[in-house]
Amino acid sequence: MERSHVSPPQSTNHIHRPSNQKCSPCSLRLHALSRKPLASNHPIFQNRFAISLRRTYSTIESKRITIERYPLRANRRTTLPLDTEIIILGAGCAGLSLAVQFQQQLDPPPTLTIIDPKTSFPRDRTWCFWDVHPHPFRHSVRHTWDRWSVHQSGEVVVQKDSQMRYQYLPSDAFYEDARAILDHPNVTFLMGETATDVKETETYAEVHTDKQTLRCKWVFDSRPPDLPATPNNPKDIRILQHFKGIHIKTQQEVFDPTCVRLMDFDVDQSHGIHFLYVLPFSKTEALLEATFFTPQLLEKDAYDVILKQYAEKEFGLTQWELIHEEFGIIPMFTEPFSREIGKRIVGIGTRGGAPKPSTGYAFLPIQQDAEQIAKIFKEGAQGKRDWPALRTKRNTFLDRVFLSYIARHPDKAPGIFFRLFKKTTPQTLLRFLSDTGTLADDLRIMTAMPKWPLILETLLSHQIWWRHS
Ligand SMILES: Cc1cc2nc3c(=O)[nH]c(=O)nc-3n(C[C@H](O)[C@H](O)[C@H](O)COP(=O)(O)OP(=O)(O)OC[C@H]3O[C@@H](n4cnc5c(N)ncnc54)[C@H](O)[C@@H]3O)c2cc1C
Repeated sequence: MERSHVSPPQSTNHIHRPSNQKCSPCSLRLHALSRKPLASNHPIFQNRFAISLRRTYSTIESKRITIERYPLRANRRTTLPLDTEIIILGAGCAGLSLAVQFQQQLDPPPTLTIIDPKTSFPRDRTWCFWDVHPHPFRHSVRHTWDRWSVHQSGEVVVQKDSQMRYQYLPSDAFYEDARAILDHPNVTFLMGETATDVKETETYAEVHTDKQTLRCKWVFDSRPPDLPATPNNPKDIRILQHFKGIHIKTQQEVFDPTCVRLMDFDVDQSHGIHFLYVLPFSKTEALLEATFFTPQLLEKDAYDVILKQYAEKEFGLTQWELIHEEFGIIPMFTEPFSREIGKRIVGIGTRGGAPKPSTGYAFLPIQQDAEQIAKIFKEGAQGKRDWPALRTKRNTFLDRVFLSYIARHPDKAPGIFFRLFKKTTPQTLLRFLSDTGTLADDLRIMTAMPKWPLILETLLSHQIWWRHS
């Protein structure tokens, strides 16, 4: 792999040192090989740049990496070899979306290394979202709808909007599209390789994998989040959105291909908040998904039983051809995710808190975030400006109060969702759901909710929304 170079700041800290304590790369290398730890007052640590090295020294020492790899000369301008400018951990939705934005926005594009343990790009999920924000994967969208419905207590509300259509993008089409855009010499895919640790110094970041150590300027980390088992703030809400979907083809013409069944709450609510989702591709083909918003998952087979019962009850189906199935868990949490993991290490995707807490939709937030991060690089402001927030404080506040309410009153959730779709226009609701709403939109959303319960919940949940992050 070709190496680029970064220059650490030149030290102005000239220290008189007895000649027998001179630091040369050679002496350091010998020292590392001698397996004796360096004392913290060793001359190597006396200049400004070298102080940052001290932080990584224990790792270097413990892993027996020779210091020869770090061509350090105290009190002299030094260049550090970098393996690549940017490392992206995870070739999933967030990792590939960010890489595509770097590739398309920056001229010349940076050297990128994308690391992922998987070795193929199968259809492992289905992304759906409303067309409220442009994204680079438009020609991978396979189907769109302009009508969607919510069902509750025997009533149905149907919304229609032909501008902000509901889009369907299967992940294999997305992966293929992204990889074609990234098929350039500046992009290296390290597939079948697992990132195990990420560290940083003042001047570079270092990614350890199960095969090697790579150095770069910036790391964007989309590995699955590693949150504590319980939230640090016991008041925080953790709801899991878990679902199983089956894409089926039938002999009978039973589906209405003009309207997405977004949430059908007329199903057993004894496990907690639960609805069925139907994406009809034609009269004979649809994706049926059994979805729950609860703190715990169900037994594996329970989702299949529910899907079978629903297919029979709603569409009279007892057999079908299974085209694809998927299972997902999306966090709907009030606690903040690790966005800025370090100065040079940034959380993206689910790890960075992309899923909208009140709905779990993450595809569009990931696209918007990738676009904003690449823009910061385009303007040369990386490291000088904060990384973009995934949603405004107002959106975060509304999401947290909403989650707190449905966690406290799961039995009321179907009614609240139904009311939102019934009492607001599609434009207002879709902008709210996509975090692009104006203040007026958000006020309309609030007035569509039951007033006094919402005010009470706002007071009761102040400890989870009244904070800085
Ligand atoms: C089945 C399913 C359906 C969904 N449907 C929708 C939808 O309709 N609309 C919507 O808006 N959102 C949806 N989501 C939510 C969200 O959009 C997706 O989860 C999205 O893929 C999140 O992107 P990500 O990059 O954070 O995670 P992923 O796409 O999962 O990517 C993470 C990557 O990290 C890799 N990785 C893991 N460990 C390591 C490691 N140690 N080192 C390096 N790489 C590693 C993984 O192999 C993976 O490729 C869905 C999620 C699922 C699971």
